[in-house]
Amino acid sequence: MESIQRAEIFVAHPDDEIIGLGGALSKLRSTGIEIKVIIFHLGGKSVKGVYDEQVGMEVREKELEQVSKFLNFNHEHWGISEIIDRRAIVRKIVQEIRSFKPNIIFSHSPQDRHHLHVGVSSTVTEAAWHASQLYYLDLGDPWRTMDVYYFEVWDLFTHPSLVVDITNYMEKKKEAMRLYKSQLAAFPRILDYIEALGKVRGVEIGCEYGEAFLRAPVLPRYF
Ligand SMILES: [Zn+2]
Repeated sequence: MESIQRAEIFVAHPDDEIIGLGGALSKLRSTGIEIKVIIFHLGGKSVKGVYDEQVGMEVREKELEQVSKFLNFNHEHWGISEIIDRRAIVRKIVQEIRSFKPNIIFSHSPQDRHHLHVGVSSTVTEAAWHASQLYYLDLGDPWRTMDVYYFEVWDLFTHPSLVVDITNYMEKKKEAMRLYKSQLAAFPRILDYIEALGKVRGVEIGCEYGEAFLRAPVLPRYF
């Protein structure tokens, strides 16, 4: 972790960054690591009782502002609800990576039931590699992010390659989730889920709470 200065997190919707890695995010932030979260879409259709997508997006954007202030991270949302022009999206991510220069990237797992989670995972995985190579040189100089990790949302890893001890950050993770009020209404047992999964992952490494990650097949580690 000593060599990490910047971490970049690519998520489909606001709240995925908290469910997936709210603890690790807080832990990285507490050591002064700069964090940028890219949100593909505000997800205006997942606000209970709100049928106007635009109104739903405004609700979620306000919540995102609160959470980003609470955990003190930078963020952008891109307004991409579906991977339609895949090449343009991969290029946008390559440009983003070459400009922010993250030492570690987190994104969704390719094994996920939500089409946009899967789409984010696949385009980010591809772009992280392209960004490191002599492709798309019109988008900046190559930048190698050695560590790219997938996080869990609803579909769990059978064999995680990394578990982060988030014991001291679980309260913060839950507090951040509570700020996503619309999502607490949409998923009434989300805090139980966060608590229970955190415990399971904690058991795996012998601490109270953990978060699990899977190393993405982008660049091999070497020594
Ligand atoms: Zn999502």
